Amino acid sequence: MNRRRVILTAASVAAGVVLPTGSIAFAQDTAAAASTAQGVNASGNVGHYRFRVGDIAATVLSDGLIGGPPQIYASDAPEAELEEVLRQAFLPTDHMTLNLNTLLIETQGRRILLEAGAGQTMGPLGGRIFDNLAAIGLRPDDIDIVVISHTHPDHVGNLRTADGGKAFPRATVFAPRADWDFFIRNEPDLSYMPVPKDFRRHFAAAIRQSLESVTNDIELYEAGTEIVPGLTTLPALGHTPGMANFLVHSGSDQLLLTADLAYHPIVNIDHAWLPGPDRDKETALASRRRIFDMAAADRLPVLGFHFPFPGLGRMLKTDTGYAWVPADWQF
Ligand SMILES: [Zn+2]
Repeated sequence: MNRRRVILTAASVAAGVVLPTGSIAFAQDTAAAASTAQGVNASGNVGHYRFRVGDIAATVLSDGLIGGPPQIYASDAPEAELEEVLRQAFLPTDHMTLNLNTLLIETQGRRILLEAGAGQTMGPLGGRIFDNLAAIGLRPDDIDIVVISHTHPDHVGNLRTADGGKAFPRATVFAPRADWDFFIRNEPDLSYMPVPKDFRRHFAAAIRQSLESVTNDIELYEAGTEIVPGLTTLPALGHTPGMANFLVHSGSDQLLLTADLAYHPIVNIDHAWLPGPDRDKETALASRRRIFDMAAADRLPVLGFHFPFPGLGRMLKTDTGYAWVPADWQF
């Protein structure tokens, strides 16, 4: 479903923005995209990962990949230092790959999807969630609730089918009220984003379009409220006006989902560089510190939406900041 190869023209690459069918990607993405698409399709590796949080069954469902120039995700990093850090992590210095780790939780007879994923709103490598749902025997109409941490395209893109319908036809969709007011009720000023103007315009349009099909029955929440027993939202403002984190809990077990507090652990946890797309960088930094401190102090299992799949690990407090410790794969 939604498999679409993007053919790039020299003109679109030169323009730095690729917009074949309303999708957004950086020119730098394209080489990586083409090779990774082939790799992902050819490997046959799973795109889902099951575990438990107490009585709650949890499954990370990959929606695929997005990415861009590393400097976007580490906006205040000195260029040479950033390159050196990436090189030491054996990562490319010209492109940062980000995952799309949506989480399905099954609790008290309800199937709840945390984040909808990007679809193809931010490049051709998203939209895999439907295949990964099918791989665990589920269809989109098996989903009862979708909760969105914030309304950026990579978190809402899959809500809309290609013909404008609801991709999860039975699901009640929850989104933070402050994001709805900023991105949907008003014309958002995205001049703070370190990306070309065209990209910003299509970014805003992708948000609007993705949410169109659910506008009439969207449930707007204030960060801090409980969605259902076992799923609480926590304010994590700054990245967007309304961004929430999620706490999944059952008995003494907990899982913290950090949404976009950090894009990649190497640049936003192991190094405290500021994500360029943060709208209010000071507030976002305060949210990051508050929530990372809590995660480290309580030794919480953490799921990072954009971290290397399946995105699970823990946060360690160090003398100078924090360190990301990935969790071992469990069979
Ligand atoms: Zn994101």
